[in-house]
Amino acid sequence: MATPLLSPAPLQVDAIRADFPILNQANERGQRLVYLDSAASSQKPAVVIDAQANYYRHDNANIHRGVYALSERATTEYETARKRVAAFINAPDPDTCIFVRNTTEAINLVAYSWGRQHIQAGDLLVVTLLDHHSNLVPWQVLAETQGAELAYARVTAGGRLDEDHLGRLLDREPKLVAMPHVSNALGTIVDVARWTRRAQAAGATVLIDGAQSAPHLPVDVAAIGCDFFALSGHKLLAPMGSGVLWGKRDRLDAMPPFLTGGGMIRRVTVDGTTWAELPAKFEAGTPAVGEAIGLGVAVDYLTELGMDRVRSHERDLTDYALDRLQRLPGIQLYGPDDLDERAGVISFAVGEVHPHDVASILAEENVAVRAGHHCCQPLMRELDLVATTRASFSVYNDETDVDRLASAIERVIEVFA
Ligand code: PLP
Repeated sequence: MATPLLSPAPLQVDAIRADFPILNQANERGQRLVYLDSAASSQKPAVVIDAQANYYRHDNANIHRGVYALSERATTEYETARKRVAAFINAPDPDTCIFVRNTTEAINLVAYSWGRQHIQAGDLLVVTLLDHHSNLVPWQVLAETQGAELAYARVTAGGRLDEDHLGRLLDREPKLVAMPHVSNALGTIVDVARWTRRAQAAGATVLIDGAQSAPHLPVDVAAIGCDFFALSGHKLLAPMGSGVLWGKRDRLDAMPPFLTGGGMIRRVTVDGTTWAELPAKFEAGTPAVGEAIGLGVAVDYLTELGMDRVRSHERDLTDYALDRLQRLPGIQLYGPDDLDERAGVISFAVGEVHPHDVASILAEENVAVRAGHHCCQPLMRELDLVATTRASFSVYNDETDVDRLASAIERVIEVFA
């Protein structure tokens, strides 16, 4: 007999919230802070804040060079963080996880290093209109410098990738396909494993922007099969200035360095220089050691919660929020209807009220959301929008936060009636 599929055990949000000191604050009217802007940057649990502080308090030294205890401890912690990140995204080899500052830097690294090596005049690069500027502009610049063509896979009015259009672009055998795993503006989840297979079958190298997936879904880079995967620590409960580029070893081995200088060399003579092995080849200069250590602790925190449970929690919360918000008069919700294709991002409009006015009134109610184009101007244009208001969830949000959001939107409706 088939075993019934069980939902993972629910997250204990009250206990989780207590782990995040910043959430323990209220405004002058006594309203608890409701933080719904985790797609921009998540909050950090005390264990992450403490790990970074402990590094500075007890172990601060430059890594990989010193033979004294501080430097050895700092090196061990830094390399342990790399192993933790590798386990978190199921990277087969920790040395293929390169510490960078953020997703933007990771994508630029690939665009410069791999891109200038492989892209020639007349080649085709494919991105999507779901992409954040960070996964568009580096490819625009590469296309311009190399004389290549950049094509944008379109999206449907419902905020999904236009599969026919992307399929037709793959028929043209692009050299590169870069796409988001989850759209920061609409929450759309892209079936990146399927598109990676199709793009690679067409001869493309594939980069996945995982800035919005790694914090919210179980990520398995080996199962996705992509060539490169980028993520930002600061969206994933980790410190600002921490991020990772993962790449297949043969790809990274064959690429020239992005930045050059100390730390990434094997031997320097007046006649020339040879490069260090991975990961050092791509980590020029002194890295953000405390930030990387914090990232290692953050991924362990999420692993302990269980990424299946995180996804299940945020899916249920999204379901609740869509149901609650669509009952409000004059509200327009954007993004896919199918919860299996949608992460915890709710982009919306309240009648004709400008999204910045909506966000300002919500802020008066101590509900923090974002308004704007979300660094997705081409997507906004495609959907005939100027901006949206966006609420986005993390492990510390629950239905009471959605209720506060809904009440605050009711106030917007009242004010602008
Ligand atoms: N890609 C996506 C999908 C994002 O949402 C973001 C940030 O919002 C980025 C890339 C850029 O991230 P960062 O600013 O950390 O480089």
